[in-house]
Amino acid sequence: MIYLDHAAATPVSKKVFEAMKPYFSDEFFNPSAAYLPSKKVASEYEAAKGVIAHSIGAKASDMVITAGATEANNLAFGAVLSGDCLYLATEHDSIRKVAEKYHGQEIAVDKNGVIALDDLKAKMTDKVELISIALVNNELGVIQPLSEVAAYIREVRRDRLARGVKQPLYLHTDASQALNLLNVNVARLGVDLLTLNSAKVYGPKGVGALYVSHDVKLSPIFVGGGQERGLRSGTENVPGVVGFAKAVEEAAEHLNGNRKKYSKWKQILLDELEGYELVNKKHSLDNFIVLCYNGIDAERLIFLLEEKGVYLSTGAACAASKGEKSHVLSAIGLSDSEIAGSLRITLGETNTEEQIHDAAKLINEAVAIERERRG
Ligand code: PLP
Repeated sequence: MIYLDHAAATPVSKKVFEAMKPYFSDEFFNPSAAYLPSKKVASEYEAAKGVIAHSIGAKASDMVITAGATEANNLAFGAVLSGDCLYLATEHDSIRKVAEKYHGQEIAVDKNGVIALDDLKAKMTDKVELISIALVNNELGVIQPLSEVAAYIREVRRDRLARGVKQPLYLHTDASQALNLLNVNVARLGVDLLTLNSAKVYGPKGVGALYVSHDVKLSPIFVGGGQERGLRSGTENVPGVVGFAKAVEEAAEHLNGNRKKYSKWKQILLDELEGYELVNKKHSLDNFIVLCYNGIDAERLIFLLEEKGVYLSTGAACAASKGEKSHVLSAIGLSDSEIAGSLRITLGETNTEEQIHDAAKLINEAVAIERERRG
């Protein structure tokens, strides 16, 4: 098997799995109980949260653990108390769908998928309370210039203050796809809210976190026992969080090595593949390679490649499963036939250099079969 869909899911690493194991059995206690074994588990849970927080330059008390990034993204919109929100046209559905509930407006991107700052500025009003922009897009791997956005937001805040406008303005980023290749730091990015996703960094699925700066007022989605500062009630997922912490530690250790490795492998693919247009030419992480074979049905390529043991996708797994056209590729101006011919390759820890050469050969063969069939 050659798995080239690491943006959709990553396997739990061996070290992560080992770190989680005791918390399913011997250390099963509820962290909220009063006896000693529970207190021990509670302190290990807090320590794990501290590791996750530290990886983005935050404190354990800034983090709200959630059951994945979808939930963290939905929770972030709890910052919209009375105003409006803006979000990037290329956001994941877990942002787009929740933003619709808050009458959110889209911010356009340019042909590279980078935020059009002039469009953000044109849409800014005194009512805007939250802006949500993913640090790394999940279909293109495009990295957004968040510190530039944050600088503009600071300007808007100063202007509001000078005019006596009380509406707060917060910046949220979905950093689900970022930790494998980027050094993420909330202060450097200038964000107030940040989503993390364990499932994309070789941690367990169904675990995520929302960084919430202390000055953000957030209304919870779930109420109950008051865990996670009352922002996410429910008994803590101790094994999940311990695994997530191990995964972010490993991601940091492998960061530099991964950058070199994926950039080399990307170049091998670009050199050995034939007859494609590279879609994500600029500002993109090296483990994301989006190829367009105009005139070819990428869905058919995917089936042909699956028969050869190569797994990849046309775009976000959730959109692909519903047979929807990618809103991300539309937003960067691709035509319907270019979108239909686009493939997303996302490299990761399961790959080897030999696999990359093999994948290039198998993709070329599948494309040749499809071109021949179409005549
Ligand atoms: N945000 C981004 C950028 C993603 O890539 C994903 C997962 O594909 C999510 C959010 C949702 O994550 P989950 O399905 O783990 O809740």
